[in-house]
Amino acid sequence: MAKVVKFGGSSLASAEQFEKVGSIIRAEEERRFVVPSAPGKRYKEDTKVTDMLYACYDLAEHGKDFKAQLEEIKQRYEEIINGLKLNMSLDEEFKTIEKNFKEKAGKDYAASRGEFLNGKVMAVYLGFDFIDSATVIFFNDDGSFDAEKTNKVLSKKLEKMDNAVIPGFYGSYADGRVKTFSRGGSDITGSIVAKAIHADVYENWTDVSGILVTDPRIIENPQKIDTITYLELRELAYMGFSVLHEDAIFPVRQEGIPINIRNTNAPSDSGTWIVGSTGQKSKFIITGIAGKKGFCAVNIEKDMMNSEIGFGRKVLQAFEENDISFEHLPSGIDTMTVFVHQDEFMDKEQKVVSAIQRMAKPDKIDIESDLALIAVVGRGMKSARGTAARIFSALAHAHINIKMIDQGSSEMNIIIGVTNEDFENAIKAIYNIFVETCL
Ligand code: ASP
Repeated sequence: MAKVVKFGGSSLASAEQFEKVGSIIRAEEERRFVVPSAPGKRYKEDTKVTDMLYACYDLAEHGKDFKAQLEEIKQRYEEIINGLKLNMSLDEEFKTIEKNFKEKAGKDYAASRGEFLNGKVMAVYLGFDFIDSATVIFFNDDGSFDAEKTNKVLSKKLEKMDNAVIPGFYGSYADGRVKTFSRGGSDITGSIVAKAIHADVYENWTDVSGILVTDPRIIENPQKIDTITYLELRELAYMGFSVLHEDAIFPVRQEGIPINIRNTNAPSDSGTWIVGSTGQKSKFIITGIAGKKGFCAVNIEKDMMNSEIGFGRKVLQAFEENDISFEHLPSGIDTMTVFVHQDEFMDKEQKVVSAIQRMAKPDKIDIESDLALIAVVGRGMKSARGTAARIFSALAHAHINIKMIDQGSSEMNIIIGVTNEDFENAIKAIYNIFVETCL
């Protein structure tokens, strides 16, 4: 049995948090491979070490003095080392970092030091081996992740080891230069390591006791999701759920390894299971509700549009030529609507409109802005009749006008368009009908 355990920044922000992490790891022998983030915030107004590193390197890059800033970062680690009474020093590492900053080693190198140094501390604290992720995680020249090479090298390396600390967030190009994933990327490292050792479970330790049905800023104390499928999570993540980095799903999904989201500050809570498939019914018909504001609907009308072959292609080409991706595409007999991100679209609005006019020759184009999209997601919807009807009636009761509704062919998600203004109330109404009234 082997588990990969990844700890987020808030779980490793101080010596006190490190101690909690230590007891979690020691509680189960299977917790053999540890992926740490950089120290995060100790309190609300605090700054994450990763952000301190970006700011410090920015000074170095502009030829400014960065000594004081680097010293402040060093103190964050010293606070942890002293708090844990560890017999170690990071003096040599900081000398190297200072030298490399002066030589402008790059922003990614700078940011990656947060995880690198935390990994060093963690390895000493646990008595585990340390592996520099630059030697086992690889990127292609175009910046994309090289899954094949990584899996080959990493699985070979870990095969012979009982346990190890592998810092999150970074790897290297073939020439050895450090490259990071996008922000929050330690989640991806955890998933890659889990795949490489064929882990039984990938535990992702954070500061919440699992994934919530919806945004707690909109619904006070929403219910927790016990089990969610990779597919459901992907739909919700796309619409703004931010518990786990979106790309962290792929490596474990291929292997069918479940992810267990857990809370470092409440380790006995069972958290949320993210799995490939499950016979387990979700507690409610829906699994989650997510949404985003800031969309525009471009409505296009033309008589007999339905029988004009190639009309849709011409319209979409107008968007493609202007480098705009579309989100949804509901259509009627003589109308079609293209939903786009408002901030991407506004600058190019007139260019797109004239391209549609030129290519598709519609009768009318109408643009509506300040719209929000809400995704209601759940594997339980497939077997439940009347889900859409219940959404309609809940929104009607709340006096909310539905601008658009789109059901994915998987019958696992329904997307609803409302005005930005109605966004919060729409989520409340949907939560209420599917969750609150079913408790
Ligand atoms: N430390 C990095 C960040 O703040 C990566 C991570 O924590 O996953 O984005």
